[in-house]
Amino acid sequence: MKIAILPGDGIGTEIVAEAVKVLHVLGLKFETETALVGGTAYEAHGHPLPESTLKLAMQADAVLFGAVGDWKYDKLDRPLRPEQAILGLRKNMGLFANFRPAICYEQLVDASSLKPELIAGLDILIIRELTGDIYFGQPRGRRVATDGHFPGAEEAFDTMRYSRPEIERIAHVAFQAAMKRNKKVTSVDKANVLETFQLWKDVVTEVGKQYPEVTLDHMYVDNAAMQLVKEPKKFDVMVTGNMFGDILSDAAAMLTGSIGMLPSASLNAKNQGLYEPSHGSAPDIAGKGIANPLATILSAAMMLRFSLNQAQAADRIEAAVKKVLSQGLRTADIYSSGTTKVSTVQMGDAVVSALR
Ligand code: NAD
Repeated sequence: MKIAILPGDGIGTEIVAEAVKVLHVLGLKFETETALVGGTAYEAHGHPLPESTLKLAMQADAVLFGAVGDWKYDKLDRPLRPEQAILGLRKNMGLFANFRPAICYEQLVDASSLKPELIAGLDILIIRELTGDIYFGQPRGRRVATDGHFPGAEEAFDTMRYSRPEIERIAHVAFQAAMKRNKKVTSVDKANVLETFQLWKDVVTEVGKQYPEVTLDHMYVDNAAMQLVKEPKKFDVMVTGNMFGDILSDAAAMLTGSIGMLPSASLNAKNQGLYEPSHGSAPDIAGKGIANPLATILSAAMMLRFSLNQAQAADRIEAAVKKVLSQGLRTADIYSSGTTKVSTVQMGDAVVSALR
């Protein structure tokens, strides 16, 4: 088992260190190699996704990724910005299926901004298409202003597009996931306004016929956003495009209390995957030792289950996380009175002790 470790920027290095510590106590045999990505790679090599980093990721069975980005790079040309590294990895590795489970741990019911009865027992899975849609659409650009001055452009455009095969393969992923859960898929679109999403709706409906046991319903994205905060437990698997999935999965993240708790997996057709927390590099708290490492630790568990065929080890990590939460240990983002506030490293150590 070869794991590429790409910590990235901001809190990335702090949280990935804890996940790696956890992986090492499982008693499994694997090789790891670490490389720079994002802003740190730009500083060292002049590019956020250097050739050597991409090669390492492509040759690994799985990639454990922290986060990239910092506001100090906002003035760079777009292709050199740290966030381009993650888009480049997704595109080059063909990571078209993004899994974002939103699970509310019993011990964290009070950390949510919603009423406990709305989220207690919440267990939904958002499946986001990751390599198409407006984020990868062509053409894109800015039209030069009448004075010929680019920064003063009067107009900018990005093109939304999806092809039938792209929709078919993500729909299959969603129906197959639903078969292992509560057999319900909600496909989220904007077919009332966008041609791209009329095609999406038609193709998902066709694919759905191959899964007669699964109930399929369709929902416009604006309604889906509303229903997510009104009655989140009515969903099981939600499948949607790249941009809507980006937004809805962050909203779902907050239902569970903190974005610091939510793992994610991005898989290609060969089950090679990139595993990362759902949050970003959190420059506002970087270097303070207070970031929550649990989303990254749980991402490592998803990596063991999906790409490395080590479901038992994944179960052990998830049980250990529940145990530390039951012990009342909390990083600042999920802290409430009556619990014990711990640092990033102390939280990682607690998971290691629970595993041992
Ligand atoms: P963010 O997710 O980094 O932070 C949002 C808020 O959540 C902040 O207040 C932060 O302190 C908090 N937070 C995030 N993770 C946390 C954790 N583990 N523990 C405790 N608190 C946590 O989003 P942002 O501030 O919008 O973006 C910051 C940078 O991250 C930007 O450069 C953005 O482009 C980048 N980003 C990267 C990725 C990625 O690498 N995949 C994803 C999203 C954003």
